[in-house]
Amino acid sequence: MYDLIVIGAGPGGMDTAVAATKKYEKILLIEKDQIGGTCLNRGCIPTKSIAQSARILHDIRRASIFGIECDKSFPSLERIIERKNQIVNELRNNTSTLLKQIEFIKGEAKISAHGTVVVNGEEYNTRRILIATGSQPAMLNIPGREFALTSDQLLENKHLPEDMIIIGGGVIGLEFASIFNTLGVQVTVVEYCKEILPTFDRDIAKRLRMALTKKGIKFITDARVTEIIDKTTVEFEKKDKRETVEAEMIIMAVGRKPVFPDGLESIGVEFSYKGIQTDDNQETNVKGVYAIGDVTGKCMLAHFATAQGKRMLGENINLEVVPSVVFCEPECSMVGLTEEQCHERGIQYTIKKGFFRANGKALCMDETEGMVKMIIGLNDMKILGVHIYGPHAADLIAEPAIAISQGLTVSEIAETIHAHPTLNEIISQIANG
Ligand code: NAD
Repeated sequence: MYDLIVIGAGPGGMDTAVAATKKYEKILLIEKDQIGGTCLNRGCIPTKSIAQSARILHDIRRASIFGIECDKSFPSLERIIERKNQIVNELRNNTSTLLKQIEFIKGEAKISAHGTVVVNGEEYNTRRILIATGSQPAMLNIPGREFALTSDQLLENKHLPEDMIIIGGGVIGLEFASIFNTLGVQVTVVEYCKEILPTFDRDIAKRLRMALTKKGIKFITDARVTEIIDKTTVEFEKKDKRETVEAEMIIMAVGRKPVFPDGLESIGVEFSYKGIQTDDNQETNVKGVYAIGDVTGKCMLAHFATAQGKRMLGENINLEVVPSVVFCEPECSMVGLTEEQCHERGIQYTIKKGFFRANGKALCMDETEGMVKMIIGLNDMKILGVHIYGPHAADLIAEPAIAISQGLTVSEIAETIHAHPTLNEIISQIANG
């Protein structure tokens, strides 16, 4: 009898299975594919590796600004993908070492009865089941969708097209748009909403779109893709008119959908196409059956899955404050409330802004495009939300995340010394201003 069986070895399932060794004795982790899930194999890590290659190319091309002459620079997508694969392999090997602390089986798990999981024809009994089966790319239900590549397929593609259409101006769409634009591809993004990155602060999304437009990315917003006519032509509807756009490659990045293990119905777990419902401790309506990560459909981020796992194990973690990052160039990040959410909740707030162009470190880096926007509650001056676009936005968001999670006021940030010269000084300057 196992204390815990975890189905799915993505970051959520794997981290939780390993952390559970502090609490339980017999733990079994089951994975049908490669360990590491979407994050390691088809998501965060592969894209960051490719984004870094694009970043190096960008730096070489602007090297003369820094007094360095480089005459030749061109990308080899084949070698970029090879490097990405090496990094993924290395991380997979590291995670295999971690897995030595628990039992691991490769195979597809099915829940056959309450407390029983079947894998490779064998039955395993357990006191608790944790479902961490993740998500997969969603496809629009439109004619010709088979002509489009998903992010999974794009990460294996070694041919650099001349031009590319990306359907969806969300997180995945923008990260790929930015990477391929830097690699020299003419990119067009077709987005359904009026502005890109619908879940981000409007002000930041608009400025980011303008910065990316300046780099040569074309955006068609407020446009609903209705059909992919052939492998190079996308039809969309904008202001009641049908139009088409053409390019050598078409990418679909319109969200992800949960992947459910077989057997949920048989034990009566409540779920919809959006995900498995859980309580605040990640337990489903069936006692002893838990779910974390993308399969819960709440917030499809690796760090959120791991945090949900900590909550499931009874650790103290704030699941309300979740930093979110887009690794485009310039980067973009957010934590806490947007202005729109403050309006909806009737919260009185004030805004303070700081700009990278006034920061010494940003000037030395020659990366002065960007802004930090802080939303502060008017009644207690606590920081409610921070939204950043600019260099290292992904790293800069950690400080505001602590501030919001711990309920810090703007003066408590101002009373803390920030090292000079750093990009973090923008945050301290806003707080002191
Ligand atoms: P998303 O929800 O972020 O964006 C999908 C976009 O497609 C939306 O902007 C939507 O309006 C648009 N869209 C939908 N239907 C359309 C249509 N018919 N025509 C044109 N546009 C249409 O989804 P995603 O970018 O696919 O990402 C999936 C998930 O993965 C997200 O939850 C995301 O947070 C996560 N993710 C996170 C990171 C990161 O943390 N850096 C990176 C990649 C993905």
